[in-house]
Amino acid sequence: MSGVSEEEIILLKSHSCGELRREHEGAKVTLAGWVDRRRDHGKLIFIDLRDREGLVQVVFNPELAKQCHEIASEMRGEYVVRVSGEVALRPPGTDNPKLPTGDIEVVAHDTEILNPSKTPPFYINEDIEVEESLRLKYRYLDLRRARMRDNLILRHQVVKFIRDFLTDRGFIEVETPILIKSTPEGARDYLVPSRLQPGKFYALPQSPQQLKQLLMVAGVEKYFQIARCFRDEDTRADRQPEFTQLDLEMSFIEEEDVLNLIEELFTTLMAAIKPEMRLVKPFPRLSYAEAMRRYGTDKPDLRFGLEIGDLSDIAAQSSFSIFRSAVSEGGEVKGICAPGCATYTRRQLDELNKMVQGLGAEGLVTISLGTSAGSLDDLTIEMVRSVAAKFLTLDQVKEMAERLGANVGDLLLIIAGKPEVVNVGLGELRREMGQRLKLVDASLFTFAYVVNFPLLRRDEEAGRWESEHHPFTAPWDEDVPLLDSAPDKVRGRHYDVVCNGYEIGGGSIRIHTAGLQRKVFRLLGYGDAEMDEKFGHMLEAFDYGAPPHGGIALGLDRIVMLLAGETTIREVIAFPKNQSAVDLTVNAPSSVTAEQLAELHLSLRDG
Ligand code: ASP
Repeated sequence: MSGVSEEEIILLKSHSCGELRREHEGAKVTLAGWVDRRRDHGKLIFIDLRDREGLVQVVFNPELAKQCHEIASEMRGEYVVRVSGEVALRPPGTDNPKLPTGDIEVVAHDTEILNPSKTPPFYINEDIEVEESLRLKYRYLDLRRARMRDNLILRHQVVKFIRDFLTDRGFIEVETPILIKSTPEGARDYLVPSRLQPGKFYALPQSPQQLKQLLMVAGVEKYFQIARCFRDEDTRADRQPEFTQLDLEMSFIEEEDVLNLIEELFTTLMAAIKPEMRLVKPFPRLSYAEAMRRYGTDKPDLRFGLEIGDLSDIAAQSSFSIFRSAVSEGGEVKGICAPGCATYTRRQLDELNKMVQGLGAEGLVTISLGTSAGSLDDLTIEMVRSVAAKFLTLDQVKEMAERLGANVGDLLLIIAGKPEVVNVGLGELRREMGQRLKLVDASLFTFAYVVNFPLLRRDEEAGRWESEHHPFTAPWDEDVPLLDSAPDKVRGRHYDVVCNGYEIGGGSIRIHTAGLQRKVFRLLGYGDAEMDEKFGHMLEAFDYGAPPHGGIALGLDRIVMLLAGETTIREVIAFPKNQSAVDLTVNAPSSVTAEQLAELHLSLRDG
């Protein structure tokens, strides 16, 4: 604290605005903060003074302090001011029960304008909708708003909780470099040209994956890091080019150890930070296949039912050509029931149809079962409204309805086609209907694990295998022989954590022998030379006593977003990028000078 003595600090601020209460009556205080609101009542001037802890009312009375009142008449919204005065109980009838400091006010004796402010481009003191680009440009003003301040504080509490939780369990936090080498996490790398090594580039880490594994070889045993990761992806789907993971890795463990640790972490975190929220415990576990079958996605929202039912066998027997051809071409026919929606209008049905078409489906087949609620026994074919009605028997309609748990008065939403298209369409429809029908209990957090992923997925276009997770994930021991004969049948020791319809993390037990790691790389299409060039450090390290190990990474931004009740991660990141990966606050990326480029041995191509 060079140059500032303790007395000077106290002179500027003895208390925070938000901490003052009835018991401070009579205390002499010095406050500093921003003018949230000013009310000029002719004689008296009232100011709501704001700092990070909250608001307090300050009253300026010309009869008590004339000059002070004159200065107050100059004050405007967002001026930075200092006020000294005495805490007094508000006159009876003027207290404000909505404000924690609402019983008292500060009667000003002395004041000073520390810095004036221009009129801000949007209201700081009201939680009103403001165009996002304006908020991002003036982020320092946006962050003054109560909602954003609370989000920043929440994020800090979450990170602090995680650090303490893991420290108590023997983990140590280790920082890993930001300038490293390309990592195969599946996205495009951000590259940084090297000045000292002409023509060479660092890559920013997509995750600390390889480094944390090397820390296991180094004997760290229990590592974690609040790690910044960089992926040059399109920012649609609420992703950010840089984001934060809770990254962790452990040696001498199995899947259960990781899953139990994470369950305990979330359970205790929620109890400490959001005690009003409910959790389902133990966290349900679903196999990947089951998640896809029942919910059409590997990140299901388990706060409500509306499960997908397979209607392919019934559809194949019908005379509806869309159904029949989907099944005969190796596809499927599946659906969900939208309870009480039989009276949906043409416009509402068109909206849903457009939505699934946007996701690649040919279209949506809807079957509405009568108009008012009733039992399926009373259903007649005249009550059924659908383009498929003429081609279905009453028994077929009833069978479909039964399979989807529907009654008279409900609406069946059915998609026919390739399994991927059917899954995506119904997965999204389920999410949409869950929201429309308000089936989501906002106080419920449903964490779940998705397990038993395949190790590899076939990229049909490129004609090669890709890792479902990343190439360091171990196959199940008993599936190793299948790597040669049936790679598609090999299961990976990979697990995902999902919560309320979002994937919030994933990890795996890793390969820890060079032989197996080479085999997997080879399957992924790497030749020996390329493998050594890209991953030689890993392969070599595995030859020096690498312990069995595994870990996980959790998306911190997404977790805080869910806890804050926000719908985009930008609301819980102090300085996020916009949808075009631009930082509007500091205006990055930006051009550089010809000298800078020359130093980096780079030249720009025209156009
Ligand atoms: N590095 C992985 C990821 O970012 C997580 C892990 O396997 O631990 O998805």
